[in-house]
Amino acid sequence: MKYRGSCQCGKVAYEVEGELKEAMACNCSMCSRKGSLLWFVPREQFKLLTSESDAATYTFNKHAIEHRFCKSCGIHPYAQGTDPRGNKMAAINIRCLENFEFETVPVKQVNGRAF
Ligand SMILES: [Zn+2]
Repeated sequence: MKYRGSCQCGKVAYEVEGELKEAMACNCSMCSRKGSLLWFVPREQFKLLTSESDAATYTFNKHAIEHRFCKSCGIHPYAQGTDPRGNKMAAINIRCLENFEFETVPVKQVNGRAF
């Protein structure tokens, strides 16, 4: 399955391929404020369609995850990082997928505050 995601104004857009079975809601200081619902995929399944320079990067805590957000509209459509085994991952904010009912995806609560 192929999905397309974007920020609100469209300056940051991407395609992601995979089977979206479950999303993650995290209670860390970032996710609890943002309200993102995340879907982790191997980085190869993620393709940024717009210029790298239209998204800014924010990191905090261990600086392991790059939170990418649109410089114009401020929406955070994805993040990128490395999993514990060293694989490059993308974290898709499924609320940013186009023509997709994110409400239908089961959500798992994750205690990110403890990380
Ligand atoms: Zn934007």
